[in-house]
Amino acid sequence: MDHRIKTLVLLFFLFLATELSAQPTTEVERCRVYYTENAQRFENWLTKRRTAMTRRSAEVYRIPVVVHVIHFGEAVGEGFNISKERIESQIRVLNEDFRRKEGTPGFNDHPDGGDAMIEFVLARSSPSGEATDGIVRIDINSKEPPLFQGNPIASGAYFSYWDPELYFNIWSFPGVADTGLGYAAFPVSDLPGLEDEKDEDLMVPGIGLVDGISITAQHFGESDLKSKYNRGRTGTHEVGHFLGLFHLWGKNVNGKPSCDVDDFCEDTPPTGAATTSCSENLKGCDGSRVMIENYMDYADDVCMNIFTQDQIARMHTVLENSPRRKSLLTSPGLNPPVTGTPDDFATRLEVYPNPVKDKLYIRLDAGYFYQNIRLTLYDRLGKVKLIQNHEQLQREELVIEMPRTNERILFLHVETGRGSFYRKLMLK
Ligand SMILES: [Zn+2]
Repeated sequence: MDHRIKTLVLLFFLFLATELSAQPTTEVERCRVYYTENAQRFENWLTKRRTAMTRRSAEVYRIPVVVHVIHFGEAVGEGFNISKERIESQIRVLNEDFRRKEGTPGFNDHPDGGDAMIEFVLARSSPSGEATDGIVRIDINSKEPPLFQGNPIASGAYFSYWDPELYFNIWSFPGVADTGLGYAAFPVSDLPGLEDEKDEDLMVPGIGLVDGISITAQHFGESDLKSKYNRGRTGTHEVGHFLGLFHLWGKNVNGKPSCDVDDFCEDTPPTGAATTSCSENLKGCDGSRVMIENYMDYADDVCMNIFTQDQIARMHTVLENSPRRKSLLTSPGLNPPVTGTPDDFATRLEVYPNPVKDKLYIRLDAGYFYQNIRLTLYDRLGKVKLIQNHEQLQREELVIEMPRTNERILFLHVETGRGSFYRKLMLK
């Protein structure tokens, strides 16, 4: 690719950031969020789900990540072709921040802060079931530039994209300076009719509605970049959006932050402007101190360290209910490839006795290590009688205390990162 075309492609990636940075609003300078669904409709759905939700025990949510590095043919570790260490530093920062890990910049002892219990793992098996390190490197020269005008999510997906039901797609894209650092697709509800509400910005010909986040190569993970945004917190912020968080000032009104809207979190003091420093003395809409350390503001990377309990509850509700979020939690991408088909998996399972009276035993093949196991008992009408979650299992037996019921038949659904299936149980 000659220099001129290369420049064109770069411009194509950057057109949005460049175009928008000319506008006076702060939001577009650092971050842009794409909302596919009507905000009120999503909010009503989320509130209802949040009230009804029972947390999946105390387990940590694990999300498989694929990082697509879009580069210009540089050697690995040079220019836009960022090193594996940089990518791993981003994943580490996410885990420190979402787990509020002690001894790291992600720790806080704020009374409203919490451990979000969410972890990110570079994918261990690919969509075709092969071993992977969760990193895909795409030389922009390897494909014709797209014919559509796209933002860094849509363009990224055009070059490289894994099934968004099973992988959290993150693109590292060529950016400029300290503007347009990150882009995120907001989650959607599972309400019917959504197919009519597609965000044109995220529609890619031949693929459909794409999903994920995009971060400029320069601001990806930790680096020695001369910038206030070199500690990987652009990633933390964009993942917050991906899991349903708004900026502290809510959605922009007429393109600008405002006190007229909120982020739907009680424990983040209302603010009508983005913070662009680490200043301790900023006052928000009600005169109280602005929570500048919140990941969903725009303060310098070094001052950020908190997700609040309400923000965490929103993210959990999204993870438990939202399409393309919930399915990530049981993705085979979390685990190394298995040899054999799902049918083989079913034969590696013993469920006994059947018919059963008080206790049901489940033994999975001892040669394998299983994670995120979920056992559900249903009656014939699909009503859930019991749910059990196990973080991991190896060479052990699971025991289910059978619930009291007049049913003669129940169905057991076993889900693991390696597959899932049903067994019919006769009751004594
Ligand atoms: Zn943002």
